[in-house]
Amino acid sequence: MTESINNLKKDLYINGQWMTTTDYKDVINPATNEVIAQVAQASKEQVENAIQTAHDAFKHWKSLELKERTTYLHKIADLLEENADRLAEIMTVEQGKPIKEARLEVISGAESFRWNAEEARRLYGEIIPAPNDHKYEVAYEPVGVVGAITPWNFPSGMITRKLAPALAAGNTVVLKPSGDTPLSALAIFELFEQAELPKGVANIVMGSSKDIGEAFTTSKLVKKITFTGSTPIGKTLYAQSADTLKKMSLELGGHAPFIVNDDADITAAVEGLMAAKFRNNGQVCIAPNRIFVHESVKETFLAQLKEKVEALKVGNGLEVDTNVGPLIREDAIDKIKKQIVNATDKGATLITGGHRLTGDAYDNGFFFQPTILDNVNTTMDIFYEETFGPVVPIITFTTLEEAISMANDSEYGLASYAFAKDGKAINTLATNLEYGMVGINAVAISNPETPFGGVKQSGFGRENSHLGIKEYVTAKFINTKFL
Ligand code: NAP
Repeated sequence: MTESINNLKKDLYINGQWMTTTDYKDVINPATNEVIAQVAQASKEQVENAIQTAHDAFKHWKSLELKERTTYLHKIADLLEENADRLAEIMTVEQGKPIKEARLEVISGAESFRWNAEEARRLYGEIIPAPNDHKYEVAYEPVGVVGAITPWNFPSGMITRKLAPALAAGNTVVLKPSGDTPLSALAIFELFEQAELPKGVANIVMGSSKDIGEAFTTSKLVKKITFTGSTPIGKTLYAQSADTLKKMSLELGGHAPFIVNDDADITAAVEGLMAAKFRNNGQVCIAPNRIFVHESVKETFLAQLKEKVEALKVGNGLEVDTNVGPLIREDAIDKIKKQIVNATDKGATLITGGHRLTGDAYDNGFFFQPTILDNVNTTMDIFYEETFGPVVPIITFTTLEEAISMANDSEYGLASYAFAKDGKAINTLATNLEYGMVGINAVAISNPETPFGGVKQSGFGRENSHLGIKEYVTAKFINTKFL
């Protein structure tokens, strides 16, 4: 176990206090399958207590002078930056991603806190033309207690992009991080404590996801649920929230298409694909999962791609030259293997990879070879099922219309990408791809300034950008008559 993890608090943080429990659960390092820590599992009463505490803290937090509230957020950003190396190490050990990626994720969390601290100062209301002697105003007010539930693939970033706008807008929060990666969350809460965030403003509970989800969704005190995770769990939370009619943001699954047109800059397209696909070992909701390549450029594209994929170094994320770490769990390997077998049985060609990695450094962890499959088509599971791993399925097309139609043939609608030069082709792609985000000759689509989110079964709501903070406020209309 590393020093950073040894020294980390492992308990619940409720009302500014670290609270022990009677039940502790193992956390595993996916690179070694070793137990690296045990974290507290909240009782039902402790979850209720955390919600009540957040409710009690709301009045004070929302009424603080804005300058004072945003000073806390800037302090948290400073602490995230100062502790980036330590937090990155914790993240890599519990989640597996290369340490460089983990560090960038922590730094982008600091950016989220800074951006939202500034954005809180620009939550402008409106004055609307009104009848004589009246004033029509719109004011944005915080919603109250926010229940946040986050996944394991970005153990830090998914938390900071929710908590920063929620807190900036004047809400209080109860967080439930993924049971696979609670340590990064605990490390962030230690920084909240160091920043002297007022008691009860941010609370963390870990434990049975079903019980905590039910406690959040059925509570009358929780006014908003913000969730990032799979589509089925998002739907469960949506259904459970019907009775209390909560405000919700659901950032769910994705199955991004990546189109390479006949006029594309092939080298740029290959580089873009490598960056977007192999980040976090393909375990990313916006990872390209269906690569549509024009028949006239496929040979060149595939040759360049194969060379780069075979040069990737798979290993423990703590080693500096590792490009790709392990998958999160054994069942992630099983899912990928099943998709590959199903595709090859139906006629796909394995160009490289396709197997679990074995040998000294790999035997205990969940390592899989970076893989390319050619001749993929719509009869195969991999065409429709979200792939959360290092597999690149290639599909050939002849016309752009055909490529767009196949790209839209998905229940998901989160991210999409296309490489093309012709202006008309670019416009056709940008207009017709049914996705919340479109990257054209670019793959960086997640920034503090730009809206992140999906359509269709990828959910609703936007994170980041000036729209992100609006998910955590309600618009109040005030009609004043001057007598
Ligand atoms: P998941 O199984 O849906 O879990 C996400 C979170 O929900 C975890 O904290 C999990 O807790 C919790 N959870 C599980 N069952 C629950 C229940 N019945 N009630 C309440 N909470 C429950 O997803 P995951 O495997 O962690 O993450 C991968 C998925 O997230 C993929 O589908 C990916 O596309 C999606 N994702 C989307 C975005 C986006 O922005 N759209 C970003 C990243 C990931 P436990 O882990 O403790 O069970």
